[in-house]
Amino acid sequence: LELEKEFNLNRSFDKKSEDLYSGTQFPWSTRVQTLLEEKFKLTTFRPTQLLAINATLSKKDLLLLMPTGGGKSLCYQLPALVGNGMTLVVSPLLSLIEDQQISLNKLGIVGRSINSSTSKEDKKQIYEYMSKGTKPAIKLLYVTPEWLSKSKIFKSYLQKCHALGNLNKIAIDEVHCCSQWGHDFRPDYQFLSLLKDMFFDVPIIGLTATATLSVLLDVQNMLNIKGCLIFRSSFNRPNLFYKVVPKPTQNEDCLNYLENILKKDFRNQSGIIYALSIKDTEELSQALRNRGIRIRPYHANLDANLRSSVHGKWLNNEYQAVVATVAFGMGIDKPDVRFVIHHSMPKSMESLYQESGRAGRDGKPATCIVMYRFSDYFRSSAMVNSKTEETKLHSVLEYCLDSTTCRRKLLALHFDEKWESDVCNKMCNNCKDHPEIVYYNITSACKYIYSIIEKAEKQDVHLTLLKLLDAWFKTGDKNLRVENVKQPNVERHHAEIIIAYLLMKGFLIDYKSYTAYATNCYIQKGRGRCLTDDTVIEMPLPVDMKMRGFAKRSVSDVADSEAKRIKID
Ligand code: ADP
Ligand code: MG
Ligand code: ZN
Repeated sequence: LELEKEFNLNRSFDKKSEDLYSGTQFPWSTRVQTLLEEKFKLTTFRPTQLLAINATLSKKDLLLLMPTGGGKSLCYQLPALVGNGMTLVVSPLLSLIEDQQISLNKLGIVGRSINSSTSKEDKKQIYEYMSKGTKPAIKLLYVTPEWLSKSKIFKSYLQKCHALGNLNKIAIDEVHCCSQWGHDFRPDYQFLSLLKDMFFDVPIIGLTATATLSVLLDVQNMLNIKGCLIFRSSFNRPNLFYKVVPKPTQNEDCLNYLENILKKDFRNQSGIIYALSIKDTEELSQALRNRGIRIRPYHANLDANLRSSVHGKWLNNEYQAVVATVAFGMGIDKPDVRFVIHHSMPKSMESLYQESGRAGRDGKPATCIVMYRFSDYFRSSAMVNSKTEETKLHSVLEYCLDSTTCRRKLLALHFDEKWESDVCNKMCNNCKDHPEIVYYNITSACKYIYSIIEKAEKQDVHLTLLKLLDAWFKTGDKNLRVENVKQPNVERHHAEIIIAYLLMKGFLIDYKSYTAYATNCYIQKGRGRCLTDDTVIEMPLPVDMKMRGFAKRSVSDVADSEAKRIKID
């Protein structure tokens, strides 16, 4: 609540600011428009871009929130060319910095970077400019937060540059990395809190695609810019089609699915497939190569040369896709990515949004697919290290299991935004398919599962998803089967959905046990919720997902009895 109050204060302030900083009445307005057209070869600003540019040129500190692909870079790159001096750009990854430099060079803009592998001559040139203003002048200087925090020499030159009046602005890209609440926390970003002390008169512009309240306030605190301007543009990406598909249990079927869509739906189109681990990226990419698809793995363990060659060939469409770990793509600037596929569920809604957001930057239609299978949840869960991460993973599970609510709506909930479902335009599989929903009574299933768990507990056996399913289906270890538990009359895949639903609702929980070599995930009865005699658990599912052996009720029946229940209460 405190957070909300504080944020609303910021917001009402920003409403005024939007009037203050919109428009073209500023002394720099003509120059800004000329630069847009002549330097950046663009015709018009996107709505929030001009606001941000005017505010930063008015020397205000500012946080800019725009979705991935929204055009954040322009908001510090263009102001960097107005007036003398340079803009220091803090960016989290060297690969990102390289990307930026390549695109700046194409436009004929001098962007330099300095890091531990910069040559002596280059360093000398950069330092000469910083300490003496020697030509060639530098307009944008990119550094990583690690470099900034570790290099004392660099800091001293930065102070000299400031003393000469040549430190114009500080831009901090992916600024959410400051916050532990964000999804990419980086310890070295904490050092950035010193910048405002050292250079109090230099405006800071922080850029991010993460918009949750807690992250924003945390960032303001961290950077010493409490109460700074906040501009945000809508996070809705109307051209992205969001879709969840069931991931086949058999690897072979899974590969068939991918081969098929890559060769048919996405023929001659460019994309990214995200996989859970480095090993997965290697295996998946090899298997798809064997099926004649031009594809390569991309991850942090690749040798630097190979990595940049894979990246380059993907940019040139020599490779149709890369199979990547999430490390790939922060700030990737390929406008025509037509598909992003999550081969297993992403670790948070933020990641889902961000990673999917790398598709369709050119504004043309693109498809974002999550391949969901319940057992993947346990693989991800094993990698989770905190309660926060666990909660985040849970919300993705919920997203995947939801076959009725508009996927845009589900995403919007995470950015404290409200999108009406007509905003979707049938651009998600739930709105498009609009399945008829029925409620299945799965109370008996829950009871059976509890009996299996109790029996296993007596034998000191931890139940994995697999063992639980086996016992339920009367296969596997005989000692774990329970006589009066009826074998379900549905496919295993459907039984998994039931277990997932019970887990999501707290009737079951997963817990971890650690060995020296692995983390194992097991299933247990929920602690908070328990099953009493009059508990009824009903699970909404599309009507065509036939669940034999479970009683069902229509949506209107459920609504009726709900209304009655409330009356009685
Ligand atoms: P972000 O950092 O917000 O993810 P980028 O700054 O990398 O996004 O920009 C994404 C793409 O949008 C780039 O290809 C860029 O050239 C393009 N872009 C940015 N601003 C505009 C604009 N005003 N008009 C058209 N295209 C733009
Ligand atoms: Mg960016
Ligand atoms: Zn929708």
